[in-house]
Amino acid sequence: MPSLFTKIVQREIPADIVYEDDDCLAFRDIAPKAPIHILVIPKREIVSLADLTEEDEAVMGRCVVAASKIAASEGISEGGYRLIVNCGDDGGQEVPHIHFHLMGGRKLTWPPG
Ligand code: IMP
Repeated sequence: MPSLFTKIVQREIPADIVYEDDDCLAFRDIAPKAPIHILVIPKREIVSLADLTEEDEAVMGRCVVAASKIAASEGISEGGYRLIVNCGDDGGQEVPHIHFHLMGGRKLTWPPG
């Protein structure tokens, strides 16, 4: 079964897409926890951080660089932002397709719950 996010990549489920390249896709979170809350994903389905191998180095690096570019285009580079990956049950991961949460536009608290 394709993941929810693979269905977004394949345009089977609508999403507010803000960035796309050959390897990565970024779209606005459906339930934003900050004024800017964008999910950046590799198009290839990787379940979680725990599943990464050396093969994934390039695509994960591309996603991080994409997140930095998106932050700039969203106007939050100067103020600052956070890039988060939840991993597994204890990490609060709900969707089993690895994703970066790009969050900003307000003062974020630390540590997360
Ligand atoms: P996780 O808890 O780290 O797995 O984060 C999953 C995120 O996906 C949550 O912030 C959800 O609000 C978000 N989400 C779930 N379904 C959709 C969708 O269809 N479009 C956009 N974001 C979604």
